[in-house]
Amino acid sequence: MEYRQRGGYRDYQGYGQRNYRNNYRRNDYYNNNDQPPPQVKPKPRVEIDESDPNWKEKLSVPKKDTRQQTDDVTNTKGSDFETFSLSRRLLMGIFELGFEKPSPVQEEAIPLVLMGKSLLARAKNGTGKTGAFAIPTLQRVDPNDQNIQVLVLLPTRELALQTAKVYKDLSKHLNLEIVTSTGGTELKDDIIRLRRAVQIVIGTPGRLQDLANQGILKIQQCKMIVLDEADKLLSPDFLPAVETLLDFMPEDRQLLLFSATFPSAIKSFKERWIPDCKILNLMDELTLKGVSQYYAFVDEGQKVHCLYALLRKLQINQCIIFCNSVNRVELLSRKITRLGFPTYYIHGQMGQKHRNRIFHNFREGECRFLVCTDIFTRGIDIRNLNVVINFDFPRSANTYLHRIGRSGRFGHLGLAVNFITNEDRINLCKIETELNTEIMAIPAKIDTSLYT
Ligand code: AMP
Repeated sequence: MEYRQRGGYRDYQGYGQRNYRNNYRRNDYYNNNDQPPPQVKPKPRVEIDESDPNWKEKLSVPKKDTRQQTDDVTNTKGSDFETFSLSRRLLMGIFELGFEKPSPVQEEAIPLVLMGKSLLARAKNGTGKTGAFAIPTLQRVDPNDQNIQVLVLLPTRELALQTAKVYKDLSKHLNLEIVTSTGGTELKDDIIRLRRAVQIVIGTPGRLQDLANQGILKIQQCKMIVLDEADKLLSPDFLPAVETLLDFMPEDRQLLLFSATFPSAIKSFKERWIPDCKILNLMDELTLKGVSQYYAFVDEGQKVHCLYALLRKLQINQCIIFCNSVNRVELLSRKITRLGFPTYYIHGQMGQKHRNRIFHNFREGECRFLVCTDIFTRGIDIRNLNVVINFDFPRSANTYLHRIGRSGRFGHLGLAVNFITNEDRINLCKIETELNTEIMAIPAKIDTSLYT
């Protein structure tokens, strides 16, 4: 509901509740799928010496991240990735991504998924959820089988692209074909890509439902499905598409649900689709450890001035500034750029290509500031981000949690500053109570060791 009010969430997903099935069935242009998929030669496999005892030393691993981490990610039982009997090629991808040891959610989830169990896993944002499903599902994929074997659903296009990148990086040495398919891109391109032999498909539910209804996305043999950010995927906007996709899949498929929050919608879904699943709960409290949260009381007219002061004072690596509407995003971005802080912006009414480019460039660190709407709140992972500013205070506790979760990724420290107007006061108390957390008044000087 909230998304729709703030900028047409359903709009930017590029689909609604309409039944595309019949429309497309009539459209012969897309419907020439009676032909068998072209036989694609497997990519040449780069030879590796499986018996080389020094293989680990020859990997090109990224520079070690020495920043302080909270026990969200360090409090493990001490497993190593090697403990899970993963293939050498997959281990190479894991280590080359800079993962040295599994995080708690990875430690718990990987063996269960490898055993073929369905799973309902609750873990905080930024604690390694993606690896927790990507690593074991990759291990279970057979590179010689030319059918789709894993389907991964995400609620937004950016998340789909980000997750696909993790899959591609991890499977660098595995020789698999991975396709990302989301709304807002040319359907024709996806159709062409899916006519090849593909083992993993990652995307948003609406587009994938369209493709499945047309017989282009062939998931009748697909035995693994992941729903990341499951709370959003099981909301009324997405649920019909998710269930349609599940209906296409075999009955004994393995279903993995991952989310930071588990509203009641998840309970009934679980009872219907995976009554006997394993349940993992790695969250004892909702708010992120490691993120210091402050508020500043301001009048609406002072907000830009206060923001300018903050940007000058804080030690920012990268920062996201949230507004509650598309217009305010564009306006604010222009204002702070003029004040000497070059800034990107993203909102749901921008074209998809443009959004992708901005997201990519921001991730690469080409700009330090990004102003956006809530389109950007969920799961987005930007390593260097250490400050989040709520220029407009969010309306719900859930949105607040997802917004501030953009900093403090993988247990690192972060800072959240909230601008509170007179009208926001009640909401501030409500959110503090709901999340059982304390948002403190901003001090004259914030100790940099709290967020750098
Ligand atoms: P996620 O919760 O999947 O969005 O992951 C948050 C961040 O933690 C990402 O930047 C990952 O690359 C990183 N990460 C995930 N697992 C590990 C690990 N085992 N070791 C180090 N970094 C990790």
